[in-house]
Amino acid sequence: MSEPRRKTTTGISYTDYIRSPAWRATRERYWQSKLPHECYCCGAARRPGMHLHHRTYKRLGAERLTDLVPVCPDCHDAVHRLHRDPIWRRRGLWATTNAVRKMRGGRFAAAQKHRALMESKGLQLKMSRRQKAARRGGTFTR
Ligand SMILES: [Zn+2]
Ligand SMILES: [Zn+2]
Repeated sequence: MSEPRRKTTTGISYTDYIRSPAWRATRERYWQSKLPHECYCCGAARRPGMHLHHRTYKRLGAERLTDLVPVCPDCHDAVHRLHRDPIWRRRGLWATTNAVRKMRGGRFAAAQKHRALMESKGLQLKMSRRQKAARRGGTFTR
């Protein structure tokens, strides 16, 4: 998880940054935002000890909130363990994160799909009689 040699955009070390009020403020901003609060990899609901993981370190020290995703400690561990593998290191941190998400079932992805589906249903409030019948489990003549 720690990247001791990595420097932030402001020049302080990663470990110092993660302990800094600046990072605490960014984290606070994230949790206040409407961005997802569930674990990106397994879909676990937010609970104390939830981490914010960097999709990229490009803007470390001056992150955009969208550079971050919530992850539970378990998944966070898994991501950084996998990322230590040279192959995954080459593929990049975000690819690694998505690989773990896939392994963990990505319930979050399912939730997102579900939400999108509900929204699309909201936009098409009027179902055809045929769809309604199908939904009730009833039969309809073809
Ligand atoms: Zn998780
Ligand atoms: Zn991380």
